[in-house]
Amino acid sequence: MISLKQVTKLYGQLAAVRDLDLEVEDGEIMGIIGHNGAGKTTILKMIVGLISPTSGTIEVMGRDVAKESTYVKRFIGYLPEESPLYENMAVADYLMFFSELYKMPKREAKERIDLLLGSLKLPEYDKLTGELSRGMRRKVAIARALLHDPRILILDEPNAGLDPLTSFFIINYLKSLKEQGKTILLSAHNLFHVEYICDRVAILKNGRVVICDSMKAIRKNLGRREYEVIFKADDKLDYEQREGNYVFRTADIGEVASVLENISENNWALVNLAIRESALEDIYVKLMAG
Ligand code: ATP
Repeated sequence: MISLKQVTKLYGQLAAVRDLDLEVEDGEIMGIIGHNGAGKTTILKMIVGLISPTSGTIEVMGRDVAKESTYVKRFIGYLPEESPLYENMAVADYLMFFSELYKMPKREAKERIDLLLGSLKLPEYDKLTGELSRGMRRKVAIARALLHDPRILILDEPNAGLDPLTSFFIINYLKSLKEQGKTILLSAHNLFHVEYICDRVAILKNGRVVICDSMKAIRKNLGRREYEVIFKADDKLDYEQREGNYVFRTADIGEVASVLENISENNWALVNLAIRESALEDIYVKLMAG
């Protein structure tokens, strides 16, 4: 669906993106994460044809973006990192204006706008975009990206700066778009969201992909497994306490065995033995430090 081969983008001496190979499959959500300046926005802008790679090829649905950008753009909805709106236009008029640029028939456009604003829970049709809160503005920008019902969505930090509830709403909304068959490539800083919705994650460092895989595979290769033993004891012990229980955490299965022996010898009560996998956050911090 989206394929980047040996893509490099130079700004003078600086390689914003270097030798990048990346494939986004039909119907998946892929997340790109990386530090500020890692090259996320540059990658997304190249895919939508706003900037050209210095070398390498980018294909969307089998078409070369450099050669057939007009054709390709019809199938892409793009949400830029910052999306200034025309402050003096009402939400519905603003979206109608864009539908005209897409040459959508008026009636169809109106129905589509109603549907989008309804599903995004944004009833402020008549409010001027300049009077909207940040979360509402982001929703309008998302509606704009979805107007022409694109098959592919390229979203640059869709929930940057939004409160947790609005963020979560948008993340779930993206999930529902995937269920409708959309392919989504997004960049994000909130790793919890990435882990929650992305089928695969590409971790970027200084313009290069350090790792690109499913969360399951990333965890298997880089993740740390931690065991958690929760038990109850009447004695006063030097363990972490949680909700009236003692908690012992370790990555060493040998230490788990000794604690279990201790519990049994002292007639304490084992409440739970759990295995905790590393979150994307732990893995990311480790990769960035290396
Ligand atoms: P952030 O998380 O802060 O949005 P990012 O990962 O999206 O960062 P990019 O915006 O892609 O990073 O920038 C990658 C690198 O390219 C940075 O070093 C940036 O300064 C540089 N860069 C981006 N656009 C230009 C430009 N037009 N001219 C010169 N350098 C640029």
